[in-house]
Amino acid sequence: MIQLIRGFKDILPGEVEVWQHIESVARGLFEDFGFKEIRIPIMERTELFARSIGEDTDIVEKEMYTFPDRKGDLITLRPEATASICRSYIQHKMYAEDPVQKFYTIGPMFRRERPQKGRYRQFYQINAEIFGVASPLADVELIFLLKTLCERLSAGDVEAHINSLGCPECRPVFKTALQEYIASRTEALCSDCARRKDRNPLRVLDCKVPGCREAMQKAPSIIDHLCPACTQHFNTVQASLASLEVPFIVDKRLVRGLDYYTRTTFEIQTRSLGAQSAVAGGGRYDGLVKMLGGPDMPATGFAIGFDRLAEVVDLDKQAYIKKPDLALGIDGIQASMDFEGRSLKSQMKRAGRCGARYTLIVGEDERATGQAILRNMTTREQVSVPLAELVKNIKPLIKK
Ligand code: ATP
Ligand code: MG
Repeated sequence: MIQLIRGFKDILPGEVEVWQHIESVARGLFEDFGFKEIRIPIMERTELFARSIGEDTDIVEKEMYTFPDRKGDLITLRPEATASICRSYIQHKMYAEDPVQKFYTIGPMFRRERPQKGRYRQFYQINAEIFGVASPLADVELIFLLKTLCERLSAGDVEAHINSLGCPECRPVFKTALQEYIASRTEALCSDCARRKDRNPLRVLDCKVPGCREAMQKAPSIIDHLCPACTQHFNTVQASLASLEVPFIVDKRLVRGLDYYTRTTFEIQTRSLGAQSAVAGGGRYDGLVKMLGGPDMPATGFAIGFDRLAEVVDLDKQAYIKKPDLALGIDGIQASMDFEGRSLKSQMKRAGRCGARYTLIVGEDERATGQAILRNMTTREQVSVPLAELVKNIKPLIKK
């Protein structure tokens, strides 16, 4: 028997209804906040991801599904959506019409990491990006949107972690201070951190290996190194979140390794997922559009892990599973699915099994009299319904 690829999964009826519900709540919210949907390809030139995500990241170093197509061009299954959305914004010169553009997209991503609970090789994300707004209020809007989404989905015990990464003015000073600190603890670091500490010291801060966490306990904090403009930006984020009653924690370990990430960075974490606690991650990437060949344009965004969100939403799954309201029996044949001419009894059994609330029986006799029999599958009550204008007649009877 051929099985699916390791780290991939099927989303089966019974579970897919929860996904549909999340998707429809998310879409509704995005529309309310003025985001437009954008759909970008599943594959892009490898170069786009290598440049935008960065050669020193786990994703580019070891997680991408990259292969030459039949002509030898290197292509990659997208590991995230931001790079493609930036490419599209630049390629179609959307900034010329209006630099401020708000997009969302929902779809699969691919990363070849070690499969485990909450970590798949094909997983799904809900992405949002805002281009052209330097104000901290755009970051606040994104975090507020995430909080509202979690509330509407009863996603339980979530909290926003926020940090600032500074800007090209102040981050180099912090980087130097961090490198000096790391140099004094090199022996305690894991082999990955020992390798990346020079090129990408910020990554050492968010390494999850216990030895590294321990060694970085007393590392200098970026927040103590922010320039006045970045301090003010970060203060506004915090004050606005507070005034919107969005609880948050300032988390100085929260970093992204690449230079085009600036200022606000955030994560939505939950206590109910064990080790894979991040439901969503995001932040500002003011340098990326320019780096990819576009104008100098601020931007900020987030990615929600759909699979993880689906795990934490507290839904009565049964209530979302669609059951037929009616199983239709015509001439002894259950028209919706049974073409085998079974007995009425066996069709009734089948209608019961599929969860139909009512069965409509239309046999020879019923056709002759022009009256069908509507049977309530729970109470077993039966009533006659005229066959003329059947739908109109049935509707009020089977109303929930
Ligand atoms: P992590 O620290 O969990 O590896 P990340 O920094 O790689 O996360 P992002 O690239 O910021 O994650 O992606 C945003 C969200 O997508 C994550 O918060 C998580 O919920 C989800 N996600 C990332 N990788 C996976 C995966 N392999 N399987 C399922 N969900 C994932
Ligand atoms: Mg990861």
